[in-house]
Amino acid sequence: MKALVLTAQWDPRPDYPLSDWERETGKAITGSSVWRYPQLRVEEVEEPTIKPDQVLIRVKACGVCGSDIHFYETDEDGYILYPGLTKFPTITGHEFSGQIVEVGSEVTDLKVGDMVTAEEMIWCGYCIPCRNGFPNHCTNLEEIGFTIPGAFAEYIAIGAKYCWKLNALMERFGDEEKVYEAGALVEPSSVAYNTIFERAGGFRPGAYVAVYGAGPIGLAAIAECKAAGAAKVIAFEISEPRLELAKKIGADYAFNPKEVTPHEVVMELTEGQGADLHVEAAGAPHITVPEMEKSLAINGKIAQVGRAATRVPMYLETLQVRRGQVFGAQGHSGHAIFPSVIRLMASGLIDMTQIITARYDLDNAVDAIAKSGDRTDGKIMVKPK
Ligand SMILES: [Zn+2]
Ligand SMILES: [Zn+2]
Repeated sequence: MKALVLTAQWDPRPDYPLSDWERETGKAITGSSVWRYPQLRVEEVEEPTIKPDQVLIRVKACGVCGSDIHFYETDEDGYILYPGLTKFPTITGHEFSGQIVEVGSEVTDLKVGDMVTAEEMIWCGYCIPCRNGFPNHCTNLEEIGFTIPGAFAEYIAIGAKYCWKLNALMERFGDEEKVYEAGALVEPSSVAYNTIFERAGGFRPGAYVAVYGAGPIGLAAIAECKAAGAAKVIAFEISEPRLELAKKIGADYAFNPKEVTPHEVVMELTEGQGADLHVEAAGAPHITVPEMEKSLAINGKIAQVGRAATRVPMYLETLQVRRGQVFGAQGHSGHAIFPSVIRLMASGLIDMTQIITARYDLDNAVDAIAKSGDRTDGKIMVKPK
């Protein structure tokens, strides 16, 4: 089968404290300090075979994620930019949907022909965080497209327990192509859902929300906050096309932070009360969080989902005086997140397919990732034939 394979050289930076675990497993905890000279190529590889608890999925759509761009882009020393868990070579791609073409002997709740999407985080279910109900913090985590083969491919084998059926979307859209595109957007939308509703505990209908960054996660956050009854959603984003997408998906106001001072805008639009929830999806918390602090409502919340390996100046007095709270979020598994996002889509409360701005076939997957590097698109889809 055809697949987009990422190869890179294992070459830990001289100052990187490589652990015994990394040496034994060949997995880098901080990819950007270990993997050098990445190469992405569409190649012919062997079709995966399934274990008894797995299903084989024919991939129908797979979205390009910010992390895929960070595998492709390098710093001046040739290291990849992605700072997380990685093991190469592997097939990349993790925001996908497809149709089941084979089921393992132990699989009981899925059958050939089912339309599904799947979680990206292959949590073990046995470690202490998993057993305590925190699969997003599994200590034996594998990630499709990062440490094990992903979905920029014709087929992917994955555990049945990570799959979620898209039948309800078929009822809504009545069109397979559209179902698969929406299905491939469930994963990033779930990352936003986990941030807002699971980690930060949501907000009361009628709340004011500010979202910093209108890439796919920020756009999903905007749509979900509007669907959940936010009275005003105020978005900040430096790319003009993404500002338009922010408005299209539900933002009441969208500003370029290079043209306004965000905290002043938020204070003005909230009658001086501040936003009840601030979502950091820009990955620039050293710039955005100080703005959030100055426009935090009493009992307001700040939720960090953008990734940034940087320290942030915070004035904790603000949290005390304004009864503020800060939440860190990662992942999308557990907590009824995937099924809830599928329901939001099926009910029409959110339609994330509106953020798709380009489509490529698998042969041109490298171009799709290069195009995403412009950071002006909403979501770019790769669709194997
Ligand atoms: Zn992703
Ligand atoms: Zn675990």
